[in-house]
Amino acid sequence: MVQSLNHSVPAFDIKQQYNSIEAEVSAAVLEVLASGRYIGGPLVAGFEQQLAAYTGVTECVACNSGTDALFLALRAFDIGAGDEVITTPFTFIATAEVISAVGAKPVFVDIDATTFNLDLEQVATAITPKTKAVIPVHLFGQPVDMTALLSIAQAHNLVVIEDCAQSTGANWAGQKVGSIGHIGCFSFYPTKNLGACGDGGAITTNNPEIAAKLRVLKEHGQKNRYHYEEMGINSRLDAIQAAILQIKLRYLDIWNNQRQRVATRYHQFLNQVSGITTPQELPGGMGVWNQYTIRVQDHKRDSIRTLLQECGVNTMIYYPHPLHLQPVYENLGYKEGQLPVAEQACQEVLSLPMFPELSEEQQDMVIYSLKDCLG
Ligand SMILES: *Cc1c(COP(=O)(O)O)cnc(C)c1O
Repeated sequence: MVQSLNHSVPAFDIKQQYNSIEAEVSAAVLEVLASGRYIGGPLVAGFEQQLAAYTGVTECVACNSGTDALFLALRAFDIGAGDEVITTPFTFIATAEVISAVGAKPVFVDIDATTFNLDLEQVATAITPKTKAVIPVHLFGQPVDMTALLSIAQAHNLVVIEDCAQSTGANWAGQKVGSIGHIGCFSFYPTKNLGACGDGGAITTNNPEIAAKLRVLKEHGQKNRYHYEEMGINSRLDAIQAAILQIKLRYLDIWNNQRQRVATRYHQFLNQVSGITTPQELPGGMGVWNQYTIRVQDHKRDSIRTLLQECGVNTMIYYPHPLHLQPVYENLGYKEGQLPVAEQACQEVLSLPMFPELSEEQQDMVIYSLKDCLG
């Protein structure tokens, strides 16, 4: 057993990143506080422009969270009662929750065993006359094969809403995620690749009409002041978060490269280890490793996780249960065994410590502890 009780490795570490930019962030936050301008204003508009430029789109609308971004995207394309939206059961609940929230029906299809992303053949077979949209999730930072997905979507006139919550900065065939489908939805929850010091989200698109609609919907459905034509919500990114995100966006590529370096090293030392499968990247894409998620075979995932914890290596399980079998979706009538690849993934996945500042010493501890625990 590798014993290193006094140096445990966290699954993620947000404080270390903050410490590295503390002076810049504190100055910017204090400036916002002194300005008296806390909602909207030039910092939010500036961040929207910067994220649009970074993503390679013409329009960006900031909002309160990734969940709101997805909700607003569906609403902007008038998706609601009577419509079906295809998505993955192996994602965070928000992806599906918003489909239900707008009154539409989530249709879950199985995932690809190697990428954990939507199985595109199954997307094609799940399309019905009621299908209006598909929400691909670039899970763990790995982009979906957008070339293949777009050709399916175009043939059936589907709206493609990219869930980029875990993949800010990733690209497929040289294009940044969030610029490939009709609309991209981002989360700035603190553990995402671009994380705020609180909640935040944004929506990207090249469609100015959709962007204008989003701006109305996110402000109570108000087109002209105190005049409401449709039901909206209140969803704002505040100026403090915008100021912090402007700073962090400048470091994002560096941090994503550091994540890539960690992933490459994990791969190098864990790829050949028996009893586990390491994540593989599709050749057409470049992921950003929000998570480095291995599979542990032979029903050993939970015991390996406990052993690792005893060695001081903290891991996470994303996700322990597939969405189609959640009690909240009982009414949809899915049965166990219906989406077997996603269900098996939930039994086997283990996300290793992954953050840009993870040192080589910490990586070694993860690698050697894991090898040790696997016997
Ligand atoms: C985090 C996340 C969301 C929701 O983002 P919030 O900002 O927490 O609302 C949506 N989809 C996926 C895949 C996520 O990981």
